[in-house]
Amino acid sequence: MIVGGGIGGLCAALSLTKQGFLVSVFEQSKSLGEVGAGLQMTPNAMKVLTALGLLEQIKKVSFSPENAVIRHYQTGKKFLNVPLGEGCCSRYNAPYLHLHRADLHRILLAEAKGQGVIFHLNSKVVQFEQDDRQVSITMESGETFSGSMLIGADGIRSKVLEQLQKSLSFQCNHKPPIFTGQVAWRGTIATDLLPKGLIKPDATVWAGPGRHFVTYYLRGGKMVNFVAVEERSQWTNESWNTAGDVEQLKSAFSGWHSEVTQLLAAADETFLWGLFAREPLSKWHLNRVVLLGDACHPMLPFMAQGAAMAIEDAFVLAKELSGVVLENSQNVEQALTRYTHQRLPRTSKVQAMSKANADLYHMKGGALGRLRLNTIGMVTSTLPS
Ligand code: FAD
Repeated sequence: MIVGGGIGGLCAALSLTKQGFLVSVFEQSKSLGEVGAGLQMTPNAMKVLTALGLLEQIKKVSFSPENAVIRHYQTGKKFLNVPLGEGCCSRYNAPYLHLHRADLHRILLAEAKGQGVIFHLNSKVVQFEQDDRQVSITMESGETFSGSMLIGADGIRSKVLEQLQKSLSFQCNHKPPIFTGQVAWRGTIATDLLPKGLIKPDATVWAGPGRHFVTYYLRGGKMVNFVAVEERSQWTNESWNTAGDVEQLKSAFSGWHSEVTQLLAAADETFLWGLFAREPLSKWHLNRVVLLGDACHPMLPFMAQGAAMAIEDAFVLAKELSGVVLENSQNVEQALTRYTHQRLPRTSKVQAMSKANADLYHMKGGALGRLRLNTIGMVTSTLPS
């Protein structure tokens, strides 16, 4: 049983089904889908998606950027230019692609359904109990289900993690996610609404004091995705994302390079996210219950690795469970320990690197002068074998 039908939950469902397990996904929303925004899928994530047989479908709806670039927010001077495209693909044996989140979600969902994954929508999990043989979950409606294992892929406000913490034997250094002092506006714009050739076919970060702005193409170049990050002292909104004020966004980036301001001139809708994160947990599993994705390692999106890490988690978890007889508690526990040992050091490192990139992108302490290739450093992944 998997709680959460986001990108991490769907990848886990698909990876486990391919290993021969019967999988059910419980999702609190009434329908499955994703927000209208883009994702940079680095080669480490693309290796997993390729191993899941999805490369050709993804290529049809994605955009292959030519370079990863960091530019000065006013002059446009390049601080960094890393060639992507074919060279990157042959170097890392997987492409670097830009995808609309809804497209990736749709492809994963269709494939999971085709492989026999069962979906329970409008099913908010509020509680679980486990013994030596099985795990039972209770929905908000009072309905219950049971299965051999429970995977919490339920995002940064994970109910599964909250429940795990109540067990005395689950010591994981847990502290609630905190507001990182950063907010992100996100939006997409049809390319034909922009002056011809305005946006270069690159993944571009415009670095400025206390702010940065990201642009890249989606859907074969028909759409441009933007992410605009600003430092703020607090996040007062109850929800973690909300409709953003386009005029406020334009004013926050007025005086920036004309590529940014001309792009924003065409924006008529945006959403605003408060960016939350937490220090790495020391433990991700207890007996038959395990976590993946944002549920155990939420991070700032400044390395474009949150979904990529969830995708890697899903693949490694399924690999470690491959051939395990789920009735055997000891074997399950050993597989989950192997999974955590592989994943925790890597995701903790990426959490720290993502945090460090805030200084780089916001021109703090001369970080741009000491530029390292953090943005694509993780593409040297060894996954999957
Ligand atoms: P989620 O996507 O949060 O999914 C959790 C699911 O669980 C949801 O569907 C939710 O409804 C469901 N759920 C929650 N609680 C319950 C419950 N109790 N019962 C049932 N269902 C429940 N990552 C990248 O790799 N590349 C990028 O370019 C990138 N850009 C980003 C830009 C921004 C501005 C932000 C904010 C993030 C970005 N990320 C990026 C990070 C990425 O979005 C997340 O890390 C990723 O979506 C996490 O996936 P997940 O499946 O773990 O969690």
